[in-house]
Amino acid sequence: MNLLVEKPEIETTAELGAWLHQFAAELYPICRSITGDGIRQTLAAIQSRIRLEIFEVPSGTEVFDWTVPKEWNIRDAYIKDADGRKVVDFRNSSLHVMSYSSPVHAILPLESIRPHLHTIPEHPDWIPYRTSYYQEDWGFCLAHSQLLTLADGDYEVCIDSSLEDGHLTYGECYLPGRSSEEVLISCHACHPSLANDNLSGLTVATALAKSLAGQDLRYSYRFLFIPGTIGAITWLAQNREQAAKTRHGLVLTCIGDGGGFHYKKSRRGNAEIDRAVACALRDCGEHFEILDFSPYGYDERQYCSPGFNLPVGCLMRSVWGTFPEYHTSADNLEFIQPVSLANSLRVCTAVVNILEKNERYLNQNPCCEPQLGKRNLYQSTGGEPIGQQIHARLWTLNLSDGEHSLLDIAERSGLPFETIAGAAEVLSQSGLLAPLP
Ligand code: ZN
Repeated sequence: MNLLVEKPEIETTAELGAWLHQFAAELYPICRSITGDGIRQTLAAIQSRIRLEIFEVPSGTEVFDWTVPKEWNIRDAYIKDADGRKVVDFRNSSLHVMSYSSPVHAILPLESIRPHLHTIPEHPDWIPYRTSYYQEDWGFCLAHSQLLTLADGDYEVCIDSSLEDGHLTYGECYLPGRSSEEVLISCHACHPSLANDNLSGLTVATALAKSLAGQDLRYSYRFLFIPGTIGAITWLAQNREQAAKTRHGLVLTCIGDGGGFHYKKSRRGNAEIDRAVACALRDCGEHFEILDFSPYGYDERQYCSPGFNLPVGCLMRSVWGTFPEYHTSADNLEFIQPVSLANSLRVCTAVVNILEKNERYLNQNPCCEPQLGKRNLYQSTGGEPIGQQIHARLWTLNLSDGEHSLLDIAERSGLPFETIAGAAEVLSQSGLLAPLP
């Protein structure tokens, strides 16, 4: 699989989409949480596709103001009625159990169980996603319509889980480039059967890493597959020197649904990553919106905390919390679409191409326009419209005064970054431009 847009053997959108969606389908049933075997299984599936190093951090480890929690694992859970019929069965959906539920096995009247049952009355057929990471509790999540069918009386409730000292697990894929400066791609891997919020980011990040592996890269790339919040805090606490090498970064999440793109800028607001993503979105042909930084959302909160202030933004399609399917069983494999996943991957690839190629050049013939015709540069060299290519050459020559990067030129000219980068290459080959160090 090769996904760089400049390569001739590009897969079709349908092929890319099928690859991404099948991978999401494989990961979907796994009961993930911020620790435990669910995240290990998920990392193992990623590891079968890219080179991933897996780290285990012991429970109780102090990470800044936080502590790595106990490890949670679950084998089974159900509620049985008086006739022994399972009315709620964890085996049907990993969402049925509140994540981090402590073990329980008891016969209780419905009235005593009720405070532990979570539903969404506005969407009576959907199962909500609930967690209780930092407060010991137990709970079941179910469709409101199902709750209404439960008669009064005694029920057997069973959550066969364990909450014990263990580890927090995360995965890291490092791709060395010519520079030790790094591009950080981070996504959370801690949600159970939720497709857009979690699996879309994981699958696209895996495909991006797979496409970049073995390429001659300007930057080094570090992909993190981590539990949300506590994973990013743990990684930052244990990798302060590595974190300082981050030159550009992106959190990927909710990028598989049918909505347009949203990019939340880094705390800096004018970092090169902020401009590179805006340019890639402008060129991608889909609807998009740029959002200012805010200190809530995903792990950009940690990367952009003032002690780090890394240039890390967050790429999404529909924004978390704004679509009704968010954190419910309706965020399922039908909610994410192969074509949306594939086009999100193409945008990520375009961002990488911009970061890789965004350099400054110096016009070697700055006094009046050079005569392009005598160098055969007043004609098309590729599939693009001749007018656009010539405009790109003129813009690139004009602004290559040592002050402007190719991204500056793409922004100011309104022309696609790839067209500007192509012009710079052709002009360099003819000796009219020279790259600046
Ligand atoms: Zn979430």
